[in-house]
Amino acid sequence: MQDKRDRRTIVIVGGVAGGASAATRARRCNEDAHIIMYEKDKHVSFANCGLPYYVGDEIRERSKLLVATPELFEKRFNIEVHTEHEVVSVHRDAKVVSVKRLSTGETFDQPYDRLILAPGATPIRPPMEGVDRPNVFTLRNLVDADRIRSFVRERKPERVAVVGAGFIGLEMVEQLKRIGVQTSLIELTPQVLPPLDAEMAHIIEAELIAEGIELHLGDGVAGFEQDCGLVTGVALSSGAVIEADMVILGIGVRPATQLAAEAGLELGQMGGITVNAHMQTSDPWIYAVGDAVEYQYGPTETPARIALAGPANRAGRIAGQHAAIDEADEMAPVYGTSIVRVFGKAAAVTGLSMKLARRFGRDARSVFVVGRHHAGYFPGGRELILKLIYDPKTEKVLGAQAVGPEGADKRIDIVATLMRFGGTVRDLAGLDLAYAPPYGSAKDVLHMAAFAACNDLDDVTPAAPIDASLDGKQVIDVRTKQELIGGSIPGAKHIPVDELRDRLGELDAAKPTVTVCRSGQRGHIAARILRGHGFADVEDLTGGMLMRHHAFPENGKA
Ligand code: FAD
Repeated sequence: MQDKRDRRTIVIVGGVAGGASAATRARRCNEDAHIIMYEKDKHVSFANCGLPYYVGDEIRERSKLLVATPELFEKRFNIEVHTEHEVVSVHRDAKVVSVKRLSTGETFDQPYDRLILAPGATPIRPPMEGVDRPNVFTLRNLVDADRIRSFVRERKPERVAVVGAGFIGLEMVEQLKRIGVQTSLIELTPQVLPPLDAEMAHIIEAELIAEGIELHLGDGVAGFEQDCGLVTGVALSSGAVIEADMVILGIGVRPATQLAAEAGLELGQMGGITVNAHMQTSDPWIYAVGDAVEYQYGPTETPARIALAGPANRAGRIAGQHAAIDEADEMAPVYGTSIVRVFGKAAAVTGLSMKLARRFGRDARSVFVVGRHHAGYFPGGRELILKLIYDPKTEKVLGAQAVGPEGADKRIDIVATLMRFGGTVRDLAGLDLAYAPPYGSAKDVLHMAAFAACNDLDDVTPAAPIDASLDGKQVIDVRTKQELIGGSIPGAKHIPVDELRDRLGELDAAKPTVTVCRSGQRGHIAARILRGHGFADVEDLTGGMLMRHHAFPENGKA
């Protein structure tokens, strides 16, 4: 990188994740640039990802959320910060923005040489009577968090309805339970955590139910019941009414594109601002980053809106440097890698789910592995469930999901790294990962998933999908007798794996066969025994009865 020192003026709109990263990187690259950041709210550079934990008192000190203050920006970085200043228009021909000082209402013009838009997104509020009542909240910034905290502490709501079972909704549910508030969770789609496949999300649903959260899935908000100026309940499309003294909406965000659109900048098909790999918009003097833009989505190589802090920070850094010295590395593709803690479990995801793959018309297959987050013989190993999704032709890994109390983060980050470099299931099988009993296994859950995928692709043991129809197939349940108590597949023949070689005569070698165990591992061993004895068409039910139960929860405990 060439050090550049010129007095160019860089104006930044929005002072949190993307904007603050852009501002400080710009300064580190160009000591003489005149850098000005406008933020319409009261705070800059606060930790929005920490807000739910502040509401629930897991983060106790409010000051911890203020990552950097305007004073620090001024002193350490020589960046002018103006809070409660809204940029109201961009005049591209004159290279000027109009700024409204919100305390006085007065408007002034600020010229720029480079402009960086980091305005984020706004929470969606359904246009319904009652949505503006003082006990209906969204959570986007510190002011929102303060309002929710005060309401909870002063009005002591007994029942809260959280609408939307995405990341923020789930974090709020967890934190409200933590401070003793009874919570209902309402979600329009039939599952929590829409980025996950349904059977993985079902594990989280079971966790929520075990914690006493009332779940209303596949049911939308039809309206709000009101009394004395407050919402008293949420009416659902099914006709049910959920009583609530407080409502928190977490139903998604809309990219803040108004400034860009009014300035004539190009918007993409997904509704975000179009940018190139240096985060330049259709006007090369104007950059855009964060929740307002469309990133290149790794698995499909098409533009997508991905409202996450990591991409916003990385994009901010690239835009800040390019605006400061006209050169920077390119923004890498984004995979939507994300994680949430829901009481005792974490759910993490990267890349394509099976349902997204179907939606994009991608040929994809998947395997499940149920393992331990570290060596099974070492005390404290916790169950970790991993789903690996791959392209059967190119063998490339397309995505992964992990759910469990420990270790989901590590596995998903490894898969995200592998995908970034175009890795295949064979590359994953060969990864050299750190191992000692307290930390992992010599054959990690990830290796096991990759081995299962290779076995599937190489016709060693093809994986039968957990939701496969087993009609007309010879299903052999190879679990122990005690394990059958929880239920089994109707019509399945029970032969424990250790008796299989002695009881082959009870089976029809010419019939398409599916082996089943608790999680898929003994089923694989059984499938290999059968193939070794002339059974031509044998599959193993991937994920076994455990995941079959999560795929068909309505059939009761498997
Ligand atoms: P923001 O960080 O929202 O900043 C935009 C700023 O621009 C705002 O402060 C806004 O007031 C200001 N602004 C807008 N228009 C103007 C204007 N015209 N003039 C002046 N200022 C303006 N992501 C994760 O990856 N992990 C998490 O755990 C996670 N948790 C989250 C929890 C919560 C409660 C929330 C709300 C978000 C969470 N996110 C998480 C998402 C993440 O915070 C966002 O993706 C990220 O902050 C986006 O950065 P941004 O710079 O685009 O927008």
